[in-house]
Amino acid sequence: MTVQKILQRFAVPAERIGDSAMFIGRRDPDDFTRLLKIYVNDYIMCPTCKSPDTRTEKEKRISFLICEACGAKSTIKGKYS
Ligand SMILES: [Zn+2]
Repeated sequence: MTVQKILQRFAVPAERIGDSAMFIGRRDPDDFTRLLKIYVNDYIMCPTCKSPDTRTEKEKRISFLICEACGAKSTIKGKYS
């Protein structure tokens, strides 16, 4: 997965953060890296095999992370899901 693709996926929940100023207002790259790491852990990386080759799917307001590598399906527990 490219960084660009991660950023594309990152942009979606970032827009949904209630206090958008919190995210957009900060330009500290450390904060961004930290957020990105949290995001990758919660929304991209497969919890079973740690592959970033995943996609998300929504069923009845519940978001699932589906791994293309091992086929694992897990619920997304992140607060922006
Ligand atoms: Zn997997």
